[in-house]
Amino acid sequence: MGHAAPVFGADVTQIAGLAISQDLQIGAVEFIVRRVKPPEELAAAFRAAGLKVTPQRQLLFRLLHGNEMHPTAETIYEVAAAEMPGISLRTVYQTLTDLAAMGELQQIQLGGAARFDPNVDDHHHSVCSTCGDVRDVYVPDAGDISVAGLDGFSVQAARIVFSGKCPQCASAVETMSVVKQ
Ligand SMILES: [Zn+2]
Ligand SMILES: [Zn+2]
Repeated sequence: MGHAAPVFGADVTQIAGLAISQDLQIGAVEFIVRRVKPPEELAAAFRAAGLKVTPQRQLLFRLLHGNEMHPTAETIYEVAAAEMPGISLRTVYQTLTDLAAMGELQQIQLGGAARFDPNVDDHHHSVCSTCGDVRDVYVPDAGDISVAGLDGFSVQAARIVFSGKCPQCASAVETMSVVKQ
């Protein structure tokens, strides 16, 4: 990929597909994909903030580690409740928002739902309109895009969401149309 790689189009899909665990290199800019801290470090951060590390919270720390799904509180709750039936959605939500307040997670609004993102770096997202899969996308120089109509508007953050079909759903559509012919 050269320095003048297009931001839109095929390369973005490629970037999204790659954003799984390795560090990304786009042109001359290297992005370090940060993951949520291991459970024991989150527990230490909770204690340092004067919060109790309960078995429920320890379970949540474990479920968040390595989670790249951009889960909602509800999806984390469903998995947690299967392991620990007594856990409440309220506890899950409180723990996730506590972690967000501590800077260990990002709380983002995507597709009408509040999601929790363990990647706290400056990044954007692709959202599959078929299966809802959310991936991290890196847009170099996102702050330099030319925008019309923002006169007088004080920008605090810009989040780019690429809507479309993920590689799996796109190839499923292709397979379907081949079968139809
Ligand atoms: Zn999909
Ligand atoms: Zn993300």
